[in-house]
Formats: sequence, C-alpha cells, structure tokens
Amino acid sequence: SASLLNAIEMAPRDPILGITEAYNADKNPKKSNLGVGVYYDDNGKLPLLECVRKAEAQLMEKTAPRGYLPIDGLAAYDKAVQDLVFGADSAVVKEKRAITAQAIGGTGALKLGADFLKRFAPDAQVWISDPSWENHRALFESAGFVVNNYPYYDATTKGVNFAGMLDTLKNMPAGSIVLLHACCHNPTGADLTDAQWTQVIEVVTSRGLIPFLDMAYQGFGDGIESDGKVVGLFANAGGPVFVSNSFSKSFSLYGERVGALSIVATSAEEAARVLSQLKRVIRTNYSNPPIHGGQVVATVLATPELRALWEEELAGMRVRIREMRQAFVEKLKAKAPNHHFDFVITQRGMFSYSGLTKEQVTRLREEYSIYAVDTGRICVAALNSGNIDYVVDAVAQVL
Ligand code: PLP
Repeated sequence: SASLLNAIEMAPRDPILGITEAYNADKNPKKSNLGVGVYYDDNGKLPLLECVRKAEAQLMEKTAPRGYLPIDGLAAYDKAVQDLVFGADSAVVKEKRAITAQAIGGTGALKLGADFLKRFAPDAQVWISDPSWENHRALFESAGFVVNNYPYYDATTKGVNFAGMLDTLKNMPAGSIVLLHACCHNPTGADLTDAQWTQVIEVVTSRGLIPFLDMAYQGFGDGIESDGKVVGLFANAGGPVFVSNSFSKSFSLYGERVGALSIVATSAEEAARVLSQLKRVIRTNYSNPPIHGGQVVATVLATPELRALWEEELAGMRVRIREMRQAFVEKLKAKAPNHHFDFVITQRGMFSYSGLTKEQVTRLREEYSIYAVDTGRICVAALNSGNIDYVVDAVAQVL
C-alpha cells in the first residue's frame, strides 16, 4: 500500500562517504582527502596494477563464454586463495581441513560467515574490537547477532590495551564469536605483537571461543607471509576458525569485489559437511559469484611471473606507505617539536589513529580543505610527495 513506503524514515548517512561528498564539492585546489579507505599512488591516483593489466590481457585473448561459476566460486581461485591464506605447505591445506569459498569482497565474506554462524550458533554473541571497522557491528547485527566490544585501543599509549582485551576474552561465555583483525588494524593501525597473539590464541582455544579473523590488508603490514602468520597459528591451534580475506586493497581491485571466506574444520570429512552448508547460505543470497575478478586474481596467483610482479607491486605500496609515515613524523617534528608523533611509524597498514581531536579535524577541514575522519583516523596511503608538506603545515597549525 502507499502508506508502507510513506512511513519510511531517511537512514543516517554513511559517515565516511559523507566526507568524500564534502571533499568532492570543495573548490580549494589544495584540498586533500585523508578520510578514504583506499590506496592512492604518489600521484594521488588509484593504481591499476601491472599484474592485473597483464592477467586481463591474457583473459581477453581467451574470449571465454560466461557460464555460471560453481556456488562456491572458481575452483582455481579458491585453491590459490587457500594456499595464500594458510600457506601451500601447511598441515590444514595438506589435510584438506579448510574450505574456501569465493565471496563478494571481504564484506561479502564476513556476511557469509555471519549468516553461516547464525544458523549453527544462533545463541552466541559477537565481540568486536573497540574501535573496529565501522561495518563490522552493522554487518553482524544485520545477521541477527548481539554485538559487543572488547577493549582494544588505548588513547594514552596510542597502542593496544592488551590487559583489558585479554581480561574480556577470559570472561566471555564459551562459544562466543570473537572478531579479530589479522593484521593492519582498521581504524587504529595498532596491531598485537607475536607474544600477545600467542596469549590470545591460548585463551581463545582454552575457553572454546570461535575466532573470526578478518584479513583485508594482507601484505600492507610487514609482508604477505608475515601478515598472514597469525591465520596459520589459529589454524594449527585446532578449533574452528573463520577467515575472511579481501583483494580489494592488495590487488587494487575494489570494484571487482574479490574476497573469500575460509573455514578451518578438524577433519576433511567435517570440512566437506561445512562446505555443503556454506553453499546453501550462498545459494540463497546471490546464487554464485561473478567471474572476472576471481579469474584475474587466480591467474596472477597461479602464474609465476605475474605472481612475482604482484608481490613486487604490493611491496611498492607497502613501502610507499611506510615512507609517508616516516616523512609525516619527521616533517612534523621540525614544525611542531613539542608534539610527539613517533607512534605513527609503528602503526601498520593504511591507517593511522593520529590522535587529532574532533575539533582539530574540523579546523583542518574548514581552514585547510583537509578531510579526515572525526575520530582522527587518517589514511596514510592518501599522503604523497605533492601534498605532504601542505598537510604537515596544516596539522602543525591546528595542534
Ligand atoms: N574488513 C576491513 C577491516 C576493512 O577495512 C574492509 C574495507 O575497508 C573490509 C573488511 C571490506 O573489504 P571489501 O571492500 O573487500 O569488501
């Protein structure tokens, strides 16, 4: 009836997309958008990776027809992703204890995992870090879960409140679902140390919690292997493990929506049952995933020259971000010697919780056309040799 739609209220705007809208409308030629969640190159442009261009050229040559993919996606993609995420030589892969299904980006992988868990652990509650990627809460709530926070960021140390986190893990009911960022924590850039991960795995395993690792930035921290290490550690710890991963950032394939959900079971037989149920979740959501992005990633990962090229290009992105962290801190030290920003160098991934207050962020926007998130999160990958001096000068002015 007409009154059905009539009564619908306007939903709140997405805060981050709102920043981009305001930025786009800004006429200042010096404007800078540090609110984004994507990697820009030193020219401030979204890159198209050379490995992707070459894989696409190969695929164009083949001019294959476009049948449906299997429900769980392209088999070559699922295999390549599983090897990448767990290690081709890992026990989980060799024993066929893990299943991997292509998903619509990292977000789609999280949603598949959430829907699957709602079917088989309907009474569990979900715990996410405080703060976390802003979509985590909404996503698990929309799957029907109650979502809680565990302590994570400590604003005074600009690091992790590890004691608080561990204490909360120790007191959760068995069977609780714990969402963890495998590397490059978004939004804070503060990651756990190896020793802290060991303790987390110990508590998660001994208390029977269900770990859900979100890995959206593999390769942006210290390297592909070292960023993925924690996934292997959880997989070896025995219990069920859920892993969502995304190639949006690491392949600069945002709009192709390429990600995957992997679930680690205790045996190949159990894994086969898990996959059969996951396929039902997929079938009733979108039937089967699109072809192109998965084919590009599978081609790159399985072709030695392209794989080497990808690793080189990914290292290039990682190193450029690190250089921007370093430059930001050094330049700021010269302009504002009484303020300490060394923690920005220690942070990992695309983001920095800069410590800038909401008032300072507002001044940056109103007086300098520099757009950051109200929480002080800046995207370090949006800094470049052309805008860094302007940004540092402005930051020094508002401190
Ligand atoms: N998880 C985290 C922590 C993210 O930061 C993002 C993207 O910003 C995603 C998941 C979603 O990735 P995708 O764009 O592939 O859906």
